[in-house]
Amino acid sequence: MSEKQPTVTQATLVKKAAPKSDYKPADVSPQRRVQRTFAVRLWSIRHSRLLEWFYSRFADVFLLLHPLWKGIGYGRVEAPVKFVEKRVKGFMFDCRMCGQCILSSTGMSCPMNCPKQLRNGPCGGVRANGNCEVEPDMPCVWVKAWEGSRNMVHGDNILKVQKPVDQSLRETSAWLRVTAQAAAARETSNNQQNTGASA
Ligand code: SF4
Repeated sequence: MSEKQPTVTQATLVKKAAPKSDYKPADVSPQRRVQRTFAVRLWSIRHSRLLEWFYSRFADVFLLLHPLWKGIGYGRVEAPVKFVEKRVKGFMFDCRMCGQCILSSTGMSCPMNCPKQLRNGPCGGVRANGNCEVEPDMPCVWVKAWEGSRNMVHGDNILKVQKPVDQSLRETSAWLRVTAQAAAARETSNNQQNTGASA
C-alpha cells in the first residue's frame, strides 16, 4: 500500500527558499504573506454590483448630511469618520486609506493592494494563473478589478485613466472629500441656474 505523500504547499516552498537569517523584519515574513487569505476582498469583488448600488445610496446619505458636517466642521468630524471608514473598508477591501478612492472604477478591487500600486491596469508580470508576480498566492488586483467591473452598471469606468496617487492625501477620509466635492458642485450648479433665471 502506498503511503500518502505530504502536501507541498506554496508556503512550504517559500519557507524553504527563504534565506536563513536571524533577522526577521516585522510583517514581511514571506511565510505569513502566503498564508493570508483574500476571502473578504474577493467576496466584495464578486458582489461588486450590489456594493456599487449600496455605495451610491450611501454617498447620497452622506451628501444629505452635508449641512451637519459643515455645521460641526469637516475638520472636526474627520477623525471619527476616518476611524469608521478605515475599519469598514479595511475589512471589506483591504483598504490602505489612500484618501482618493477609485473602488467604483475598479470593480471594487482596491488598486493600492497591488504591490506596485498601479492605478491604471496590470503590469506585464501577471502569472498564467492570474496571480501576482510579486505575491504569487495573491490574485492580481487588476485581473480581479476587470472581473468585478464586468458585473457593475458603470463598470466601463475602469477604462478611465486615473491620476497618479497624491501621497499628501494618505490617511484622510475619501468619504468626506467626495461629499464636500459633490456639495460644492451642487452649489455651483444651483448658483448658475439662479443667475440664468434672474438674467
Ligand atoms: S482606492 Fe484608496 S481609499 Fe479606496 S479602498 Fe483603495 S486605498 Fe482605500
